[in-house]
Amino acid sequence: MSFDTIPKDLRGLRACLVCSLVKTFDQFEYDGCDNCEEFLRMKNNKEMIYDCTSNNFDGLIAVTSPEDSWVCKWQRINRFTKGIYAISVAGRLPNGIIREMKQKGLTYRPRDTSQR
Ligand SMILES: [Zn+2]
Repeated sequence: MSFDTIPKDLRGLRACLVCSLVKTFDQFEYDGCDNCEEFLRMKNNKEMIYDCTSNNFDGLIAVTSPEDSWVCKWQRINRFTKGIYAISVAGRLPNGIIREMKQKGLTYRPRDTSQR
């Protein structure tokens, strides 16, 4: 198992708005998002990190075997990489990026579950 996806610091944590993976800003800058890099391209791109991640999130889940966890199914992260995930992420992706995802056949579902 790779530990690169585990937050290295408790300060400066941010959660991906698409998949809710939690890492430090530096880790997002260095590796991008482990699940969404293909279409978010946050690697070495501070602006994209500010746009596509949020420092306002609630609850943390440590995921070690996403495939067979009901929590992961519930959170719709069972196909994602191992790591730390937020339960709810406040914020919304910029429309341009939502449009780009749509063109690639991806549906964006906001991760903010606090108002439900
Ligand atoms: Zn992501």
